[in-house]
Amino acid sequence: MARIRPRLAVWKFASCDGCQLSLLDCEDELLEIAGEVEIAQFLEATSASVEGPYDLSLVEGSVTTAHDAARIQEVRKQSRFLITIGACATAGGIQALRNFADVREYAAIVYARPDYIETLATSTAISDHVKVDFELRGCPISTRQLVETISAFLAGRKPQTPPHSVCVECKIAGNLCVMVGHGTPCLGPVTHAGCGALCPSYNRGCYGCYGPMETPNTPSLSVWLSRLGMDEDALRRVYRTFNANADAFREESERHDR
Ligand code: SF4
Ligand code: SF4
Repeated sequence: MARIRPRLAVWKFASCDGCQLSLLDCEDELLEIAGEVEIAQFLEATSASVEGPYDLSLVEGSVTTAHDAARIQEVRKQSRFLITIGACATAGGIQALRNFADVREYAAIVYARPDYIETLATSTAISDHVKVDFELRGCPISTRQLVETISAFLAGRKPQTPPHSVCVECKIAGNLCVMVGHGTPCLGPVTHAGCGALCPSYNRGCYGCYGPMETPNTPSLSVWLSRLGMDEDALRRVYRTFNANADAFREESERHDR
């Protein structure tokens, strides 16, 4: 008799698809995962689709339209566990820059026919709309952390994704600190681990792709960044990139609003 495998569904909201590509990038691991689960819905990989309910839903992207807001409720109803993947889904993504501006002005600059655009004034995380069982950070997510997270849910345990900062990964990699050594501004001290300190390993400062770590001391980091020459505009902008609407980064950027 055929073994009943848990049903996995992957959903896209407002996003660039980069996090779904990270799932496809898992290659060898994906084949093993595919052996353990039934991939019931994953339009980036296949147009075949199986109706819900689903055991595990991975959700990429933020809520930016009324249609998104209604659809995520349906996804939640059909999913036993729901995990959000990436900065768009966990913090509203780069598109959350609209939350600090007038979205109609942006639309008029970007689109030839802005009157065709029906959109909300904000871009928000999935957890602002429905209960989320686990959030996996990053822009894009780490394939290593994704495989760990899916494996953990299949095994009924908590995923091991450390809440500490990029600085810890940077020290483990044996890097010279770019802030101390070169005077290069770096968001590593307040940013969630996961990338393996990719940018500092190439002598660049961290850009905060993984969003705020647990209990980040952003006001203290801002003092150090201003000593390295960042003015108020630069401080506001440095927190407003991939995770502009994550609470700690949003609040710190607003402290440097004129
Ligand atoms: S988090 Fe980054 S990589 Fe993932 S979908 Fe959003 S913009 Fe793309
Ligand atoms: S380079 Fe950045 S991430 Fe690495 S230790 Fe220094 S401040 Fe932390």
